[in-house]
Amino acid sequence: MKTVFIDVDTQIDFLYPAGALAVPGGDAIVENLGALTRFAASKRLQVLSTADAHVEDDPEFRTWKPHCIFGTAGQLKAAATSLAKPVTLTTAEGALDWIADDVGAPGQIIIEKQQLDCFTNPNLRFLLDLLQADRYVVYGVVSELCVQFAAFGLLQTGARVELVTDAIRGLSDRAEDEMVEKFIAHGGVLTTTAQIVGG
Ligand SMILES: [Zn+2]
Repeated sequence: MKTVFIDVDTQIDFLYPAGALAVPGGDAIVENLGALTRFAASKRLQVLSTADAHVEDDPEFRTWKPHCIFGTAGQLKAAATSLAKPVTLTTAEGALDWIADDVGAPGQIIIEKQQLDCFTNPNLRFLLDLLQADRYVVYGVVSELCVQFAAFGLLQTGARVELVTDAIRGLSDRAEDEMVEKFIAHGGVLTTTAQIVGG
């Protein structure tokens, strides 16, 4: 079974209290995020890490406080979810060709995006077509926003999608619970960091 890890928006601006758009309690999941990332590296799995990459006057800032501006420290990924020598899949047409050698290889691909939904990077769907994974393991922030978009988009591929419930964080427990219920109703599977790392 081919497994690919999907690490959603674990960037400094979202994950840490001092971040520009911090999710409450985000730092509490960092230890689990680190364990999942080390496990992926040890098993030579591919990790797809979605990442906001905004310009200073990004249209999204009409809705959300400015965050994850390209070139700032807050846009960087947390150390816990960073692997050596990542490659980046931008939203530019043809960007998948630039990283062709890295598709399916162990290591990290950063999936840049300018909107909540990672599938607004038009190259992601083609990347998934190439990968042909049987199983996606999803974690990160924010549960009811970007994690939800990622998880539901992945369910549409027909692969098994597992959500690591102790390595996600929502803006509120209620919003996260509703998202998790909907995810199960659509065929998603729940798991934990210990189950992934131990099994
Ligand atoms: Zn954003």
